[in-house]
Amino acid sequence: MQVPFLNLKAQYESIKDEIATAIQQVIEKTAFAGGPFVEQFEKEFAAFCQTKYAIGVNCGTSALWLTLLGLGIGQGDEVITVPNTFIATAEAISFCGAKPVFIDIDEQTYNMNPALLEQAITPKTKAIIPVHLFGQTADMDPILSIARTHRLVVVEDACQAHGATYNGKPAGSMGEAGCFSFYPGKNLGAYGEGGAVTTNNPELAAKIKMLRDHGQSKKYHHDLIGWNARLDGIQAAILSVKLKHLHEWNERRRQHASAYSEALSSGNGIILPREAAYGTHVYHIYAVRVTNRDQILPALMAKGIGCGIHYPVPLHLTQAYRHLELGRNRFPVAERCADEFLSLPMFPELAKDQIAFVATELKSLL
Ligand SMILES: *Cc1c(COP(=O)(O)O)cnc(C)c1O
Repeated sequence: MQVPFLNLKAQYESIKDEIATAIQQVIEKTAFAGGPFVEQFEKEFAAFCQTKYAIGVNCGTSALWLTLLGLGIGQGDEVITVPNTFIATAEAISFCGAKPVFIDIDEQTYNMNPALLEQAITPKTKAIIPVHLFGQTADMDPILSIARTHRLVVVEDACQAHGATYNGKPAGSMGEAGCFSFYPGKNLGAYGEGGAVTTNNPELAAKIKMLRDHGQSKKYHHDLIGWNARLDGIQAAILSVKLKHLHEWNERRRQHASAYSEALSSGNGIILPREAAYGTHVYHIYAVRVTNRDQILPALMAKGIGCGIHYPVPLHLTQAYRHLELGRNRFPVAERCADEFLSLPMFPELAKDQIAFVATELKSLL
């Protein structure tokens, strides 16, 4: 048996006709860059996230970057985030001229540990970016409350958490803004690149709309120095089709996660994902922890099981962020997790016998 880490083709097969019609409509209207299909998707995605606005952009990295620019964050500012995330979170901070300040994670949820937040705040701190890693939100209430006390803005990196909730509230609806990626492998994935910012702040929404399109207030009237970070029409039309299925697909991911967790059961050298009582985990990634990960992963791959590591190097230990001079043992939980994380196959179309096979093979290696 072969179990791929992801199977985007299986999902495409299940919605082939809807996708063909959607793409055809965009081409017939030649609405390729921005335009009515982007506006339609923005309305639908804002409704999905229960926010007033959603602004489509060309990727999740741009969503984060333009949000920070739109909030006026730049040179001399500090933004607090976590070291165990995809590098884009920190790149967005660096690319607007600010400095990323890392704090360690909570060992249960693998998300920002709110107890470490206050001591990282300095007079230069402007914003906090909790990352909703693997599809489970960070513990937002304490983060939002500390932010209020210190007059800081909170930007949610929700790139892995489309449809996740925290005390009933959707990811992307709690901070000043939520940033999403529609990279093909994400829970809501385009057939190319895409991203969005969600917010209830009309000024911020208007500013990001300008920034994504060369700072234009109207055609060729440039009020700001912006960039080209537009979402294209074909991607928006595809995303509108896929958004209708997202709740069902997330539900299937949750069922697969329960099946894995039941088959594997904690102990015996393995730590399974833990769901915080505060929310709904949408399992973008099903990551277990094993101490001998670097032996187990290649052994699983050799049996035809696709695995991954999210992420092998915490950001403070990457070459790119070596200049921060943070070094090893600075964030012990994030470092330990990076050494132990093992991501198993996870996608809505995964079959029961595939899950059973992965669990059996993994158990035999422990
Ligand atoms: C995917 C991802 C991003 C970046 O999104 P892109 O669309 O690839 O630019 C940012 N943050 C996190 C946590 C992600 O998983």
